[in-house]
Amino acid sequence: MKNLRGFMMEYKNYLSEYLLKGGQDEVLFEAYQHLIRLLDVSSAQAANILDIHNQVLKDILNIKQDNDVVQWIYIERSTEFLAQILIATDALLLSLRENVERDPLTGLYNRLAIERIFSKFWANASISKTPLTVAMLDIDNFKDVNDKYGHVIGDELLKEVSVVIKTCLRDKDVVMRYGGEEFLILLPETDSCDAKTPLERIRKRIEEGVFTEARIKITASIGAAVYPDDRPLSMEEIIEFADAAMYAAKAKGKNRLVFYSHLDSKNKEST
Ligand code: GH3
Ligand code: MG
Ligand code: MG
Repeated sequence: MKNLRGFMMEYKNYLSEYLLKGGQDEVLFEAYQHLIRLLDVSSAQAANILDIHNQVLKDILNIKQDNDVVQWIYIERSTEFLAQILIATDALLLSLRENVERDPLTGLYNRLAIERIFSKFWANASISKTPLTVAMLDIDNFKDVNDKYGHVIGDELLKEVSVVIKTCLRDKDVVMRYGGEEFLILLPETDSCDAKTPLERIRKRIEEGVFTEARIKITASIGAAVYPDDRPLSMEEIIEFADAAMYAAKAKGKNRLVFYSHLDSKNKEST
């Protein structure tokens, strides 16, 4: 914690004010806003807050030395206070995680979120014995866009492409920014037959679109792998398969969708 003593003192001030003033919402509201600003991700954990709360409350009750009934009212009121502060720290932790896991350019989940999100999809597929298609999309010749129009336009193009991808997907699908101009797409409950439609739609919309104010034309290559058909042993392996299929799409001339199952055994072995 950055400033444990400072936080404890402020907590004590607000908590005693709240108890003594009969549980006013305004005190709670001010505490809520002020205390959250003093917290960081390592300190905003329930166990830390609970510890501080217990120490501080003991101090306040010792100083007050009121009779049992009054003390009991204080204890109940302090629990309300604690509950509100914990709700706020929960929200803070969630928002911090959201910030860390989101790519600021496109607003999509980034690589840091993959483990958490992909493992849910992976577990669902294996438990419910439903197929899962994983696709890797890489924009073709993107370096040329940067070279010709500059990075700012390149960034704008990435943003617009991410919107195209999202609008071609169902709510239960997920697209993440895997790397610079690479996107990872997860299609739950979808085998290769069903995956072909949305993935081809994405490829075609990108091919047919004009992007940014510079009206740039681009294409993308997509590789896809399917659980369980391609028999990937892990999340990492299915991503490798999708990546290999994407590279095969590049090798075949770009602007196309290739499934891992269509690779010949030599290309499969190199993954
Ligand atoms: P290929 O068709 O083989 O995929 O060629 P490519 O030019 O797309 O691929 P390459 O890997 O050679 O270059 C990718 C480029 O993407 C290089 C890098 O400058 C650019 N890039 C990566 N991240 C960003 C970004 O966030 N913004 C911008 N503007 N460019 C980026
Ligand atoms: Mg790339
Ligand atoms: Mg590329």
